[in-house]
Amino acid sequence: MRSLIPFVHQIDSQEADEWLGALRGQLPDCDIRLLNQLTEQEKARAELAIVANPLPADVAQLPNLKWVHSVWAGVEGMMAELAHMPFDIVRLVDSNLAQTMSEAVLAWVMYLHRDMPRYRTQQALAQWQQLPYVEPGDRHVVILGLGELGQKSASRLAENGFRISGWSRSLKTISGIRCYAGEQGLAEAIGQADIIVNLLPLTAETKGIMNTAFFAGVKQGASLINFGRGATINESDLLQALAEDLVGHAVLDVFEQEPLAADSELWSNPNITLLPHISAPTSVSTASLIVAGNVKNYLADGTMPQVVDKQRGY
Ligand code: NAP
Repeated sequence: MRSLIPFVHQIDSQEADEWLGALRGQLPDCDIRLLNQLTEQEKARAELAIVANPLPADVAQLPNLKWVHSVWAGVEGMMAELAHMPFDIVRLVDSNLAQTMSEAVLAWVMYLHRDMPRYRTQQALAQWQQLPYVEPGDRHVVILGLGELGQKSASRLAENGFRISGWSRSLKTISGIRCYAGEQGLAEAIGQADIIVNLLPLTAETKGIMNTAFFAGVKQGASLINFGRGATINESDLLQALAEDLVGHAVLDVFEQEPLAADSELWSNPNITLLPHISAPTSVSTASLIVAGNVKNYLADGTMPQVVDKQRGY
């Protein structure tokens, strides 16, 4: 009998069809179906589900789940809504996504490194003024979060000649990257950095981590890139830090509320470059290949992929 795998989602139907088509193509020996296409007996039989922003009430209809595989990398929503349920949560770990993110990090670090925000302002004022050139080796970039995305981004920046530090929860040893951990480590790392790149997950510990105290500790005029999650920044504290020139420029791709409200004051701040959550879109083709690989291993001999640590929240 083909293994039955529910696909539980709360995304638009066109996107869901795309995922279903790709997952069915990768898992021809499985019967992948939407929740509303399952009988009560079939719901009771399901041990594993593939999910995309699932509603807790939908997942609760599958009483015998052992694990769910999300098609996305970030899990803060599932941690908030599903962590109390008795199954494991697996997230997407995709080297293609890390590559895409590292490209975005490189692009926007270059944007700041080559003073593009200031040249854009000067153009608007018809101002001909050459700013001093800084070698990449004299530009210190710190990456907050040295996980799948942070490490790839750090090495890509290092390949381009930047001076790189990184901060994570557990202290790492990575060739060419000065690594920090802990509160003292964070203070040291951000105190020296010209550009701070956030790639932390959103957890109880990282929520609002970039606040007034944080901005008071950055090198005067440092720039910030947030490609992690919006709620790791306290927005009003950031606006204050920009107004006081503690932070020179911020590139923001993620926000506490998405889409960002049309009346948000972030839109019109000249020291903010605003992006609509585009730094690293998930590729349905590579993600479905990875999800399928994990599912196949599990069905073959029960091997589980790495699961999210519910205590840590990522
Ligand atoms: P990951 O592999 O789980 O890495 C997370 C990193 O953050 C790890 O190095 C971890 O430290 C560190 N960390 C977590 N909590 C910390 C804390 N309290 N203090 C210090 N360091 C802490 O995650 P990832 O795959 O790199 O993804 C990171 C985040 O990027 C995702 O959670 C998601 O929110 C975001 N994302 C954004 C986009 C986008 O388009 N903007 C796309 C995909 C993902 P340890 O190494 O010690 O565990």
